[in-house]
Amino acid sequence: MLTTYFRQSTTSIIKVYKSLLNIQCIYCLQDSVNNICPDCLDALPTLGQHCPKCSEPNHHGQLCGHCLKNPPAFDEVFCPFAYQPPLSDLIHRWKNRPHTLGVELLVQRLVDNLSEHTFDRVIPVPYYWRKLLKRGHNPVRALAKQLSQQLHTQLLDAVIRVKPVQDQQGLDRKQRLQNLRGVFELKAKYKPQLRHNNILLVDDVVTTGATCNHISKLLKAAGAQSITLACLARTPAKS
Ligand SMILES: [Zn+2]
Ligand SMILES: [Zn+2]
Repeated sequence: MLTTYFRQSTTSIIKVYKSLLNIQCIYCLQDSVNNICPDCLDALPTLGQHCPKCSEPNHHGQLCGHCLKNPPAFDEVFCPFAYQPPLSDLIHRWKNRPHTLGVELLVQRLVDNLSEHTFDRVIPVPYYWRKLLKRGHNPVRALAKQLSQQLHTQLLDAVIRVKPVQDQQGLDRKQRLQNLRGVFELKAKYKPQLRHNNILLVDDVVTTGATCNHISKLLKAAGAQSITLACLARTPAKS
């Protein structure tokens, strides 16, 4: 009995030791220095042609109709990937499990894209407290914290979600904006710190950009100079 136990323990230790030494790519299972090998990382879906203002994928790479008609309150978007399989599955898993392998490389790609820019604050898009309690961890804040550390910029939890937002899925752009009314507020004590700031607003996945646009309006009303939006991936808008 005891011999079996020791044999099993030793096998487990060897397995862990081996897995620490031989990292495998999560997609092709080849040995790799990182959790996603360079070839599989290059094969992940990127945005392709997109609107230079809101980053919505399109076929011409020019300003989209929405930005021409109603320019968003944010100034620029940095988004290295398109929210499509297999990347969408990876991000979805990470939203529920903080230490999902491979996501660190997505974050690094975003950091690389942002590294030549300077910001005064990094601000995460907040969750409603009840949702946070249910989820158990805050992926957006974790992402914002990593960006803040790597870009040497202060993280500021300046925005709060004061009420839950009705599920945005299936709503068009106009309905999404109406749905967001009164959902977010700026913390009063941080408002004076936002004046003339160049802000990096962080979300994990952006769909229409309605939430970030709404928060950007609040930040600009408080005197922020520019808002740059950073996210891991973006979905093509439905309407
Ligand atoms: Zn691979
Ligand atoms: Zn646009």
